[in-house]
Amino acid sequence: MIYFDNAATAPVNKSALEAALPFMSGQFGNPSSAHTKGRTAALAIMRAREQCAAAIGAHSEEIIFTSGGTEADNLAVHSAAILGRKLGKKHIITTAIEHPAVLNSCKALEDFTLTVIPPNSNGFVTASQIEAAITAQTILVSVMTANNEIGTIQPISEIGSICRSHGVMFHTDAVQALGAVPINVDEMCIDMLSASAHKLGGLQGTGMLYCRSGTAISPLILGGGQERGLRSGTENTAGIAAFGCAAENAVQNIPEKQRKISEMRDALIRELKKIPNSQLNGGEPRLCGNVNMSFAGVQGESLVLALDISGLCASSGSACASGSGEPSHVLRAIGLSGQMLDGSLRLTLSSENTMDEVREAAAIITQAVSRLRRLCE
Ligand code: PLP
Repeated sequence: MIYFDNAATAPVNKSALEAALPFMSGQFGNPSSAHTKGRTAALAIMRAREQCAAAIGAHSEEIIFTSGGTEADNLAVHSAAILGRKLGKKHIITTAIEHPAVLNSCKALEDFTLTVIPPNSNGFVTASQIEAAITAQTILVSVMTANNEIGTIQPISEIGSICRSHGVMFHTDAVQALGAVPINVDEMCIDMLSASAHKLGGLQGTGMLYCRSGTAISPLILGGGQERGLRSGTENTAGIAAFGCAAENAVQNIPEKQRKISEMRDALIRELKKIPNSQLNGGEPRLCGNVNMSFAGVQGESLVLALDISGLCASSGSACASGSGEPSHVLRAIGLSGQMLDGSLRLTLSSENTMDEVREAAAIITQAVSRLRRLCE
């Protein structure tokens, strides 16, 4: 089985799993308990908080652990909205290619004005587009670091410094970017950042929101006051311990990983471009592991099923994650329509993949596309 769906979820790191296991067996204490088992769990969370903070150049008290990237995005937008209402600033700027966790959180704010910046046909927004949209009413700018479908990496430092100079809060969804590109919240002027453990070798169901010290955070989940009252609920100690370890590992040797993975990505793109009536979606800079291609005359979902039968795990951009059958809002935003929109395929590689797998996958895809096209003739 060849696994080219790392953007959906990445394999769990061996060391992250080892970090989690004690808290799923003998060390099962509640981190709020005063006894030894509780204190052991609390210590593990403290260490993970330091590891996650270090991965983005932050301080540990600026990290709020959540149930994943979705909750982190919701918490960021919700907190900005509460502050915006207090200050009488009810305008938010985001982009048309954000993950639904950001887009839908923004759209749910019925009393806010939302400016949704369109990307160009390569999948990029610019800092000047953001600057032109800022008004005296703007409370938040939210722009993802890297896109989950087409892998495009946005000019986050430039956008961050524009926001800083206008006194506007800047949030970035770095769920796909953390571990793939270097991130430093100070250098990039980021006020809030979302990340998710299962995209970088941790476990599903754990994430974090980084909040620059002094940023007003309003909890979405009220209860026993965990996470300094900002995210109640007994902590997922195992998941958090794994996240800390995975985040620490993920940010090691990024340039070396980028070199190895982008070599495989570029070889795969070269092979897939040989398929007639195909196109690469999204431009450079793109995540080192991301390939998003369209093949005219093929349904993306049928292609994914055909590839699965041949032992290749991939995903399609033609239906959204909920399985509603709606075409990808990202591909539409960069101008795809018709057959190119319907026939998209996302392949996302990691450093655990090999060049042999790339060659084999290219052959499998080439055969599957021509078989499906013959069926449709
Ligand atoms: N943001 C982006 C860019 C994503 O790719 C994802 C997941 O695919 C999320 C947010 C949601 O993260 P989670 O699965 O941890 O809720």
